[in-house]
Amino acid sequence: MKIFLVMLFLLTLKAFSGQDQYPEEREYSRADRGLRPYQALSIYKTGTFALTFDDGPHPTRTVQILDVLKKYQVKALFFVLTSKINESTFPIIKRMLDEGHLIGSHGVTHDRGADLTESEWKVRVKQSFIELAQWHKKAGYEYKKHYYRFPFGDYGTRSDYHHINALKEISRELMGENCIHMAFWDVDTADWVPGMTSEDVANNMIVHNEGGLFIDFKKVGNTYVKNPIPLKNPPSGGVILLHDIQEPSVKATELFIQYAQNRSLQLPRIDDIEEFRITKSCSL
Ligand SMILES: [Zn+2]
Repeated sequence: MKIFLVMLFLLTLKAFSGQDQYPEEREYSRADRGLRPYQALSIYKTGTFALTFDDGPHPTRTVQILDVLKKYQVKALFFVLTSKINESTFPIIKRMLDEGHLIGSHGVTHDRGADLTESEWKVRVKQSFIELAQWHKKAGYEYKKHYYRFPFGDYGTRSDYHHINALKEISRELMGENCIHMAFWDVDTADWVPGMTSEDVANNMIVHNEGGLFIDFKKVGNTYVKNPIPLKNPPSGGVILLHDIQEPSVKATELFIQYAQNRSLQLPRIDDIEEFRITKSCSL
């Protein structure tokens, strides 16, 4: 069984080697669901993790996270909601770019893909990229590395259109090519679950390196609660999902970076990972 699993892992790795972009140049169908096909397998078992932060910018917490990243010289990708960018939060956006971080789109607002018609979805996501291009320009940067993350990881949930095909159309309309990489995650820190402490959130990153008790969540009634489960086969590498709007994530980010740097783990920016490398020259 163990040999079979190792072979399966190696075959999967092989299938993905040479992968130079998501989405692929093909039509996506309803079979294309879930996060599994889009995980950063090239860095599994390598002790390499890439930090990503969703749902900001937040006027104070994002700034605190930027302070932590600067202190330890780690670069991240921020998936922002463009409705949160305005004259008062723009300095945070400029600072992200000045300090070498990437900015991706998480939409204008935090829409669930399943709730929107194709034209509604396209208008909104397209708008978010147009706005990001404008903010980049205002900060003095060309917008050349384009990433999108589906809120709730919700895509491929409509019978009348597939969000990934729509994303490719948006990219072609804006830049003439399939340039927008979609990025999921390998490590869900559950930092948004009520009652999570910084130590809990840091723990959830650490156990994905060395195994242990992962503080997962489950739905009880209308709310989510902590639901610890043993994680026996940690990926020991992957893209980490955090939220820069969550208070515990500030200290958790510092705790995990300290853990990683003490063990010489690698914390590259996502575009240094094979699956998320930028191979085309696109500008918006
Ligand atoms: Zn989100």
